Amino acid sequence: MKIKPPKKRKFGKGVVACRRCGTHVGVIRKYRLMLCRRCINEVAPALGFKTYE
Ligand SMILES: [Zn+2]
Repeated sequence: MKIKPPKKRKFGKGVVACRRCGTHVGVIRKYRLMLCRRCINEVAPALGFKTYE
C-alpha cells in the first residue's frame, strides 16, 4: 500500500499543526498558540504561562 500525502482538510486535525514540531496531536489553537501540548509545556515559561507543579 502506498503512503499517501496528508490531505488538505477544511476541518479536523489536518487544519492545525504545531508550528514548532508539526504534529497534529494535541494541538491547542486557543490563545492563538498553535502549539501542541508538549511544545506548550516547553515554551510556556517564555510566554508567561505558569504550569502547575
Ligand atoms: Zn509541538
